[in-house]
Amino acid sequence: MRWTQTYIPTLREEPAEAELASHKLLVRAGYIRKLGSGVYSYLPLMQNVLTKVSQLCREEMNRFGGIELLMPVLHPAEIWQESGRWESMGKEHIQFRLKDRHDHAHCLGGTHEEVITDIVRGEVRSYKQLPLILYQIQTKFRDEIRPRFGLMRGREFIMKDAYSFDRDEEGRKQSYKKMERAYFSFFKRCGLDTVMVESDTGAMGGSGAHEFMVVVDNDSGENILVLCDNCDYAANLEKATALDTSKTSDENEKEMQIVDTPNAGTVEEVTAFLNVPAEKLVKTILYKGENGVVAALVRGDREINEVKLAGVLNGEFLEIADAETVQRATNAPVGFAGPVGLSGVRVVADLEVRKVRNAVIGANQNEKHYINSNAGRDFHIDIVADIRNVTDGETCSKCSKGKLYMRRGIEVGNIFNLGTKYSSSMNACYMDEGGVDHPMVMGSYGIGITRTAQAAVEKFCDDKGIIWPRPIAPYDMVITPLNYDDPEHKATVDEIYEKCKTVHLSVLLDDRLERAGVKLNDADLIGIPLRMTIGKKSLKAGKVELKARKAVEHEEVGLERAVWRAEEMLAEL
Ligand code: ATP
Ligand code: MG
Repeated sequence: MRWTQTYIPTLREEPAEAELASHKLLVRAGYIRKLGSGVYSYLPLMQNVLTKVSQLCREEMNRFGGIELLMPVLHPAEIWQESGRWESMGKEHIQFRLKDRHDHAHCLGGTHEEVITDIVRGEVRSYKQLPLILYQIQTKFRDEIRPRFGLMRGREFIMKDAYSFDRDEEGRKQSYKKMERAYFSFFKRCGLDTVMVESDTGAMGGSGAHEFMVVVDNDSGENILVLCDNCDYAANLEKATALDTSKTSDENEKEMQIVDTPNAGTVEEVTAFLNVPAEKLVKTILYKGENGVVAALVRGDREINEVKLAGVLNGEFLEIADAETVQRATNAPVGFAGPVGLSGVRVVADLEVRKVRNAVIGANQNEKHYINSNAGRDFHIDIVADIRNVTDGETCSKCSKGKLYMRRGIEVGNIFNLGTKYSSSMNACYMDEGGVDHPMVMGSYGIGITRTAQAAVEKFCDDKGIIWPRPIAPYDMVITPLNYDDPEHKATVDEIYEKCKTVHLSVLLDDRLERAGVKLNDADLIGIPLRMTIGKKSLKAGKVELKARKAVEHEEVGLERAVWRAEEMLAEL
């Protein structure tokens, strides 16, 4: 491809709206353009990358038994009402909804469990037709709360989504394992190392799920991964558990007293004022749930894990209570809530809370706390469960030996066990050998194609630009002639370019009549893995220069060997 015949609008300036290196680079290097919040055009270079990423994904899916199809983006509401998710998704407002001219409710697909289940239930009747793994690569729509970071969290993005159907749990496990292997292999082929972590099942339903994470050390990693330094335990912080090593103190229970805590509402302020360690304080956080207000209790030195909390309450949709709700439930302003004497509120306490003796706790009165409060004696707990985040250095719950540590990760894919959630609610059954009907056991498997591409940029870049892993680069090589305006020079360059095409090297020829500096900078910026620089002087000596984008050194090669050597170098990239 000739540069002047494609469209690569590189920019000198950094785009103001971008925070991440990868987002800045994709905009500057002319890969993407924003149309609206979380909505991007994929310019020709990006389109090349996405085609390659999609193709690698397709190859790995096919290799592990996946069958490709393509489902609609426009879904009538009924299909979502059948599974019960029209209502649950409605609460999160993540689904784009619209009405047609007949006032009929529809949504734009953000995931396709319902649609695929509808397809399969219509056609699959016998155990002989199972197992099945069906997948598609398609644009998805989600009205994300915080679209950001370019393609990382878009409102319109490309996903590969696969769905497995098996006759029983044993089969479902095998399908899951196949997808696990396909995923590792796909990400590897994209040049990305991934860590598979245990994850929460969230809105998907079912039980048991894993996420594939690209480990990064900045804000691009929206997930916190919890890893063990001794065993292979790996979990998303949303799900991670630590061994409960907290001990009940042998202190005697003292009499509860109310004390003034003027101007002290936060844990830091209260513990400083009363001169007690944070683990002696029990903090109470109020949530507005679907079935009323919930008071969640954790030790003062811990953080509530809202995903675990919602899980304990059967997936109830929770929001932090606003000031008015707090006032109504506790008769006090925010900062002084506590479980003592609370009525009409469900109290959920973390496992450790029961073990805190003589705790400091909010008194439901402005600027007052109780001291020496004790669970059971002074206040009632409805549910005791693990509802806190684990912290760095705690003991691993799997091996009971190693220490937990944290990393940040970009979630590029995930795999879910759906069980029979959709097949039961939507009646997708098969008949076994004896003629008995059973709901199919399902799995669901997603890969963010656009997110994966940007994650690769986040991992592989420097201050000059992108450094694509070769398998997903828009071109293998860029030819940068420095004196293309000279007819003789041009003739030689064109000859090399044609030769590359005949050996099927995918090359971009920078045929612009730009200064050498501009061309070299742009070549680095767009990140093509190999560059062949052809200057007048070296050409006189019968040589061209080859340089891998990631290398520091370049190599001079005789003209007659140039293309051959380029192929050889690419094979190593
Ligand atoms: P996240 O926790 O990041 O919101 P998710 O749990 O909603 O992801 P799924 O619904 O399972 O993810 O989607 C499958 C894959 O699609 C994810 O692993 C991710 O790579 C990608 N993905 C999800 N949401 C987005 C988005 N808003 N923009 C780009 N890619 C996304
Ligand atoms: Mg999401």
